[in-house]
Amino acid sequence: MSDTQQSETTDATQSLYAKHKVIHPRSTSGFFTNLRRLAVISLLGLYYVVPWLMWDGRQAVLFDLPERKFYIFGLVFWPQDAIYLTFLLSIAAFALFFFTTLAGRLWCGFACPQTVWTEIFIWMERWVEGDRPQQLKLEKMSMNAYKLRIKLTKHLLWIAFSLWTGYTFVGYFTPIHVLTQEIFILKTSGWETFWVLFYSFATYGNAGWLREQICIYMCPYARFQGAMFDRDTFLVAYDEKRGEPRGARKRNEIKKLGDCVDCGLCVQVCPTGIDIRNGQQYQCITCTACIDACDEVMVKLNRPKGLVGYTTENTLEGKTTHVLRPRILIYSALLLFFMVAMGYLLSQRIPLSLEIVRDRNMLFRETNEGWIENVYTVKILNMDQKDHTYKIEVEGIEGLKLELNKQDLKVPTGKVLDVPLSLQADPAKLTKKSMNISISAQAVDNPSIQTLRDSRFVGPTKN
Ligand code: SF4
Ligand code: SF4
Repeated sequence: MSDTQQSETTDATQSLYAKHKVIHPRSTSGFFTNLRRLAVISLLGLYYVVPWLMWDGRQAVLFDLPERKFYIFGLVFWPQDAIYLTFLLSIAAFALFFFTTLAGRLWCGFACPQTVWTEIFIWMERWVEGDRPQQLKLEKMSMNAYKLRIKLTKHLLWIAFSLWTGYTFVGYFTPIHVLTQEIFILKTSGWETFWVLFYSFATYGNAGWLREQICIYMCPYARFQGAMFDRDTFLVAYDEKRGEPRGARKRNEIKKLGDCVDCGLCVQVCPTGIDIRNGQQYQCITCTACIDACDEVMVKLNRPKGLVGYTTENTLEGKTTHVLRPRILIYSALLLFFMVAMGYLLSQRIPLSLEIVRDRNMLFRETNEGWIENVYTVKILNMDQKDHTYKIEVEGIEGLKLELNKQDLKVPTGKVLDVPLSLQADPAKLTKKSMNISISAQAVDNPSIQTLRDSRFVGPTKN
């Protein structure tokens, strides 16, 4: 290969790689900034406070994986309750579809953990290094004692916050009071140590270093959310008709220019480093920072706000925006359906599970009195938060006799009791070889806790 060819190949290879530029977004103030602050503070507040809440003498929200129990305030969920998880995931999916179609990437800009933690890390960065101009100055400075001290302070702050985040995360799976004591006496288990460090490292890496790269290169949602948009979806957009031709001008200078003074503030505040004036881009996470930045400029220029606004493509084109449209109605109907269904199921939920297992070794046996006997094992799982004593009843065949080889059916909370059960029927009452029966269990101290299972009673073939 000739030198020229080689150099062309190298150039081509190099052009495929864009060196990552660190983004130093300028701070903003205004209506949308306040909304974002409110969202960040409430969501992070919830995350850090919830594991400390108590309910009935235990941690209010605890995902106890070894015991396979999820405590959520007054409710305890078991693996048998997987149906609720299905409903929860369906609600989350349809809520995402509904809000994205209606209001764009609200999730990305205001509620996604990546955005929320990045925002906190940016606040800490500004607190230590100053706003964008100071950060850029510091970036250009060669390493000296001052720069080292500032950078070290920032990273120590980030690491401390990340460790607190990792510790809180594990506090959702190990009772946080126990975890705190274990940390103080350096007695955490291997898994607890691993997850605290792993989650801390992920927080530090994602919110401190990777930031917008997660949204731009790694998040799949950024790629497919466009499919949910239509011309009536609210999004952050630049009003090109009003803004162009853009250009700098002196105050009160009359030029045939649009409202955009090309100050570049909307670009400087953007956490993903894009220029919203170039149209819709998948990198835009709808953080709305550019709206506040541009509004401030417009106020100073005595021009109406909203050159960069939260609007729809139809509005920008002077057409009517339709909020109620078929997609919105279908998504909201499905969302409502899943929410009502889940609410109903939860209100009907009985903290008791009953399983009936027939004895596989013997279909039936004839007793000395000439009655037909079938043997079962009854498994009672007490899913309530209190101990209960249960009574077992059976119906389906006239005169069916029930014999339990255990009189006291007391089951502590969260435990399973296996009880052998024998049923005896008068052969004269057996109209078929195999008859349906129902076996029920009921808490003696709370009759509303009861459940019923169907089974079969097998007898000899009738001639
Ligand atoms: S373009 Fe505006 S709304 Fe989109 S990410 Fe940048 S600052 Fe946020
Ligand atoms: S902030 Fe507004 S005026 Fe300034 S460049 Fe952006 S769109 Fe133009």
